[in-house]
Amino acid sequence: PAAYSTAASPQPITNPDIHYTGIFINNEYHKSESGKQFETINPSTGEVITMVEEGDKADVEKAVKAASEAFALNSPWRQMDASQRGRLLNRLADLIERDRVYLASLETLDNGKPYTNSLNADVELTVANLRYFAGWADKFSGQTIQTDGPHFAYTRLEPVGVCGQIIPWNFPLLMQAWKLGPALATGNTVIMKLAEQTPLTGLYVGKLIAEAGFPPGVVNIIPGFGPTAGAAIAEHMKIDKVAFTGSTEVGHIIQKSAGASNLKRVTLELGGKSPNIVFKDADLEDAVEQSHFGLFFNQGQCCCAGSRIFVEEGVYDEFVERSVERAKKRIVGNPFDENTEQGPQVDEEQQNKILQLIESGKREGAKMLTGGTKVGDKGYFVSPTVFADVKDNMKIATEEIFGPVQQIFKFKTIDEVIKRANDTKYGLAAAVFTKDLDKANLFAQGLRAGTVWINCYDVLNAQTPFGGFKMSGQGRENSEYGLRNYLEVKAVITKLPVKNS
Ligand code: NAD
Repeated sequence: PAAYSTAASPQPITNPDIHYTGIFINNEYHKSESGKQFETINPSTGEVITMVEEGDKADVEKAVKAASEAFALNSPWRQMDASQRGRLLNRLADLIERDRVYLASLETLDNGKPYTNSLNADVELTVANLRYFAGWADKFSGQTIQTDGPHFAYTRLEPVGVCGQIIPWNFPLLMQAWKLGPALATGNTVIMKLAEQTPLTGLYVGKLIAEAGFPPGVVNIIPGFGPTAGAAIAEHMKIDKVAFTGSTEVGHIIQKSAGASNLKRVTLELGGKSPNIVFKDADLEDAVEQSHFGLFFNQGQCCCAGSRIFVEEGVYDEFVERSVERAKKRIVGNPFDENTEQGPQVDEEQQNKILQLIESGKREGAKMLTGGTKVGDKGYFVSPTVFADVKDNMKIATEEIFGPVQQIFKFKTIDEVIKRANDTKYGLAAAVFTKDLDKANLFAQGLRAGTVWINCYDVLNAQTPFGGFKMSGQGRENSEYGLRNYLEVKAVITKLPVKNS
């Protein structure tokens, strides 16, 4: 949280002009082939911001043609020095920085997240991610290999080719960067489908990609819906790889489509129900604040949200009491206000889903100590909600809520809590709060999750891998591991007249 400081933020543009609503192919904006458009809504008010071109199969086809031509042998992109790819990525990061107030404002308008977060978390991490992968562009390499016989063998790490990337609405700019950085650093071309709820910032970045100097067709960006444009990508015979972030439900569909079409490579970053374990020897004040942040950040719309908080008997009552106090203090409202901590949920569907899950929690006997309602008479706000005495088999304990709803459980022993923490189909993240090094290490080993935070939560860096065990995903994003998803390994073996050691 300290990293997302609100100090000296430049003022937002509360009514940003919308410049780009078309389908971005070959560095230009196009109308949809079908002539269809869709609305994008301001979740703070429920009003339409603008109409956006609705991409579908025919537009995906156009984008695949552009991306395939950009990837063709001897194309400018294929002939470009790796270091130059890095410079282009850095230039893109510069342009995002130049326009950061506009982009952060647009993100807040379209997604509803507080402007201070858009600016200090989303845009800042976006820039950091692009710069990190810019650095990698000329720093990965193959091997020379000692083979038997008079041969010279080496490996080339080559781009996979035309990559489909389907991103969600919870961090539109940042998820775009997580996908573009490694794909472009390694020389791939991209067809990206933006989430239908939040297309505006991703489309604006199209213009910056052209301005940075990426050749036409290297990045193509399609606003549109999942079952149409998204499915056309997952099923396409000429797309070599698909990377998806979103729900586990759709993750199944993506993997099936890849299997049924051309066995394209698949990476998935899916849902979670991440455990956060608080021992009585932890710094309680800090654990309460971090656990609050770990759940409520981004309106609770984080795949790695700490949504199952296990608290050791002995500090349980105090933890619950302080968490309720903290949630009651959370400032919900206009996301352009400097003091706002929580804006609206992204849309009415999410708001309704969250309210229904809250009802199920009450019905199943969990103790709701604050929140549980809509806030205001317009927009999709939900009050910060805390449930205590949650039991492991309740719906709110097993299903991803993706909203500002905190679940607190009680535990007694280490063995018991490791077992309960791991008793989930998910495995995205986990955390433990303790001052005991041995306990911390035991949990670092015992928790079945792609990230384990010790005495912190939601610390996400470009340098550290992120991804899921079990049904939370396949593959890792960020870090050196993130490059692997976008590289094929080719062995090249040459006959020699004679071989010497
Ligand atoms: P979703 O999985 O439906 O959407 C994510 C992306 O996939 C969007 O771009 C969407 O258009 C696309 N998509 C949807 N159906 C598709 C299909 N059949 N083929 C190809 N692409 C498709 O997520 P959602 O409906 O926006 O949210 C539902 C739930 O998903 C949330 O409540 C939350 O639990 C989870 N979610 C997780 C993340 C995450 O970061 N892991 C992000 C958003 C939502």
